[in-house]
Amino acid sequence: MFAPPPIRLSKSRFVAGWQCPKRLWWTVHEPAAEELKPDKVLQDRFDQGTHVTALARTRFPGATLIPPGADRARIEATRLALDFGAPAVLEAAFAAEDVFVAADVLLRERDGLTLIEVKSANSAKEEHVPDVAVQVWVARKNGVNVRRAEVMHLNTDFRHPDTGDLFVRTDITREVEACLPEVPALVAQLKEALAGPLPEVPIGLRCFEPWPCAFHDRCWPDDPWHISMLYHTGPKGVDRFLKLGVHSIRDLPAGHKLPDAAKRQLRALETGQMIVEPELKESLRDALGDARLGFLDFETINRAVPVWEGLGPWRPAVVQFSYHEQGVRPTHRAYLAEGPDDPRPELAERMLEATAGAERIVMYSSFERSRINELAEQLPALAGDLRALSAKLVDLLPIVRNHVYHPDFKGSFSLKYILTPLIPDLTYSDLAIVDGQVASVEIARLLFVAHLVEDREQLRRDLLAYCERDTWAMVRLVERLRELAG
Ligand code: SF4
Repeated sequence: MFAPPPIRLSKSRFVAGWQCPKRLWWTVHEPAAEELKPDKVLQDRFDQGTHVTALARTRFPGATLIPPGADRARIEATRLALDFGAPAVLEAAFAAEDVFVAADVLLRERDGLTLIEVKSANSAKEEHVPDVAVQVWVARKNGVNVRRAEVMHLNTDFRHPDTGDLFVRTDITREVEACLPEVPALVAQLKEALAGPLPEVPIGLRCFEPWPCAFHDRCWPDDPWHISMLYHTGPKGVDRFLKLGVHSIRDLPAGHKLPDAAKRQLRALETGQMIVEPELKESLRDALGDARLGFLDFETINRAVPVWEGLGPWRPAVVQFSYHEQGVRPTHRAYLAEGPDDPRPELAERMLEATAGAERIVMYSSFERSRINELAEQLPALAGDLRALSAKLVDLLPIVRNHVYHPDFKGSFSLKYILTPLIPDLTYSDLAIVDGQVASVEIARLLFVAHLVEDREQLRRDLLAYCERDTWAMVRLVERLRELAG
């Protein structure tokens, strides 16, 4: 009888299966699944990873790069490069037992071969170990004696343009050797899972770590009472509850200690009503008083390879602000960087000028305060004024968290979750950009690869509109909170 050929595993499939066989099954059997299409944010992450890999390759002069092509040709080219004594092979390809891998770098050192995995992360992480282990396993099965395994990652101490080295190599040989005995069994298990029907896998920590699973919405219930909706219960806490058989907030064991906001959440779910604590009035009075209020919001870019002075890998840089100020008629000021040059000094000056008249400046979360404090360090000439601005900031988030809960908050106090329940008529649906991460990626495109942007002026307008809506949302939120406080 005809038996279908076994499904080939690759490094990325092995890692997906190591996280969850169900995730692997969908990835392989539904490659066109909507969930697998990289959005702009993920695509940017991939692009930055490609850039990091290209830079890492320059650290191995004289290396032989195995070009893309058919697996068989790549494997043959790798064998030839090794036979001819290449000092390093980039994209070194091997296959064994229907597993194909291409190692970023195979480096010939005095005491043998080192397999190096290049990552755009800031450190070597636990999840890099199985990724490297499967490569070492396949290489060794081909008689290639890999003696050491390393992760080459970005160096958090590096500062643009030239303080320190952009890369660090971390030896993970011990961890990889410890993982290697598990690889053959897992390979067999994953191949079997792929050949069968969709595997049954319970939801749990694996759905969030080491990577958030794209299939989350297929497996997790959308139920306000589900235990994953309980305020202040991260993936590890949810996993613990599920293992104890607690799937619903209703099943919480009697006497289980909860933070006040979670107790308020329970009351709101039970009654179906928004809970507003009477202390909200006093809290608002203390925080805002009768002061002239400003409302500030930032957008930032985060580049793996930093582009402006003093920045390290993945460090956020403020490139846009929106500012509303209360008055008889609210006023609005905004700034959005233009071109690849460092915008921070100009942005800071414009922001200081815009915010000079406000006595208190409202933001939501501590993000803006952190960025202003960083700007104060990066721009010594403006440090005093920036610190004075920082002292005027008022964070609305703890005020909401400590006094208000609406049944539709879904256990979260992020603006994304609280705005619609509190201010139903305030919408972002008319905007082209509705998400901070997308805004960040789009700004980076505008600054660094503007020639690839079809309609630059339109994109600028979209970005300005999005940031402006965020500060307008805070104006409305203060109004709403004052109304709730009576
Ligand atoms: S959501 Fe969880 S259980 Fe479902 S496929 Fe992803 S990791 Fe597996």
